[in-house]
Amino acid sequence: MPSWIPSLACASCRRPLELDANNLPAQASACRYCGARFSHHRHVFRFLDADHHTRRLLQTTEGGLMEAGYRRPNRLLSKLRRIISSEYFPGKDWRRAKAQTLANPGLKLIIGSGITRYEDAVHLDIDDFPGVDVVGDAHHLPFSDDSFAGVVCEVVLEHVRAPQQVVAEAWRTLAPGGHAFFIVPFLFPYHGHPADFSRWTHEGLAQTFAAFEPVTVGIHAGPCSAMVNLLSEWGYVISGLPYPRGYTLIKGGLTAALFPLKFADLAVNRFPEARRLASTLYVHAIKPQTTAPK
Ligand SMILES: [Zn+2]
Repeated sequence: MPSWIPSLACASCRRPLELDANNLPAQASACRYCGARFSHHRHVFRFLDADHHTRRLLQTTEGGLMEAGYRRPNRLLSKLRRIISSEYFPGKDWRRAKAQTLANPGLKLIIGSGITRYEDAVHLDIDDFPGVDVVGDAHHLPFSDDSFAGVVCEVVLEHVRAPQQVVAEAWRTLAPGGHAFFIVPFLFPYHGHPADFSRWTHEGLAQTFAAFEPVTVGIHAGPCSAMVNLLSEWGYVISGLPYPRGYTLIKGGLTAALFPLKFADLAVNRFPEARRLASTLYVHAIKPQTTAPK
């Protein structure tokens, strides 16, 4: 039985579901306290109805492209993109922060996991992409308070309607001493995966995690990554071509021409004011052992 099943709670009233590991519920079930429905099939739990507004976004052009990328990943394209892309992440600090979060003993929650899997973790996303354990809404996490030693959420917060609520849910479900590791975009073009609502400066990110202590904010992808991304995106926009066909052509072509510039971030990320133009930022925040009311 997956180790995270006892941590499951009603997404609506937050009371523990108290599931019997040897007698998991049949496909459709309801919370015994409030009646909120959920379903279960082969250790994948669903807390989002098909008509939930977030799931309806998967039917848009951008949502469909995101889903296709997860359902039928193109390995060759992924390999190429690792080099021929606008993003370069040379920093040691963010890697150390993420490693510390994942190494904190106990269960970890991955919010918006896509098709990425981690050891000793439960993986939540808005649909049952390969590797997802729980189909749920990050604004209403279906887990009990103090369940996790770590919460990891990489370039997902810009895609939720109320990011502060998602951070509050990370706080609620983290045990005291638990680590949060988030990556968010700052100077990064619009990308509907499946929708795109927000951006953060380093100050805004620290403010969003103000309840935690300590909070460290730093560069994930730097100014040269941002420049490659913005220039190639600008080239696409002024081409006037429709999305997504013209995008693949122009954005892809310009990225292929400009991507070597991103490697300058190896030096530039260390410059004192580099974060003024960062592409993406990370935050590493710890829920204190003793907590004052938030
Ligand atoms: Zn309930």
